Amino acid sequence: MKILISNDDGYGSRGITALRSALAGLAELTTVAPDRNRSGASNSLTLETPLRVVGIEPGLYSVVGTPTDCVHLSVSGLFDTRFDMVVSGINHGGNLGDDVLYSGTVAAAIEGRFLGLPTVAISLCSGPDTGQHFDTAARVARQIVAGLLQRPLESELVLNVNVPDVPWEELRGFVATRLGRRHESEPVIPSRDPRGQPVYWIGAAGPGKDVEPGTDFHAVANQQVSVTPLTIDMTRHAAVPLLGQWLSVLT
Ligand code: MN
Repeated sequence: MKILISNDDGYGSRGITALRSALAGLAELTTVAPDRNRSGASNSLTLETPLRVVGIEPGLYSVVGTPTDCVHLSVSGLFDTRFDMVVSGINHGGNLGDDVLYSGTVAAAIEGRFLGLPTVAISLCSGPDTGQHFDTAARVARQIVAGLLQRPLESELVLNVNVPDVPWEELRGFVATRLGRRHESEPVIPSRDPRGQPVYWIGAAGPGKDVEPGTDFHAVANQQVSVTPLTIDMTRHAAVPLLGQWLSVLT
């Protein structure tokens, strides 16, 4: 059994280091991750420049590229092997609701969707001032991956796991959830560079809007580990017939 590990915070981040330790012994591990923080990279591929892979130590590689680049390379020819699963994380910060559209952590997991087993994105719902219990998220990661190896779910399933930032003893179990929704983001923050030119910071993500029971937001707020099964098909199936009628009048 061969597991590919990646993330979007960079190969040396605290979260991926905790994940590598947590999964040791479960399978043969290979880690391929960006050379620096690429949070918010989503499913982006580098197409205009070649990709350079740097071996850091046995089984750990850094790529000057995005999380998707890392997994794409790894499953498409960088190694003379076939991986069974991709595990991405442990992200520094939650990936709840709308976050999954922007997340490089989730993107890395999605890029492994054609492998034979589900892929897993794991995020610790920590802020800069919260406890940062990566040990809790690491134990969660090991339990889920060990469970998938013993009792596989359907393949091409992406599991988005969000772990409350609390000690392990304070977790209130695991729960299957759907994505909630956030309010709109905070506005951009204008500033000036040292030469007086205007620059802008992207504002913080908005607070939860759809946080009803059954959502990922609700689970994490109740100190439960949220596990959301994601689908790649973004089609709004219910709208296809109506759109067909609307289009037929155009021509
Ligand atoms: Mn990140």
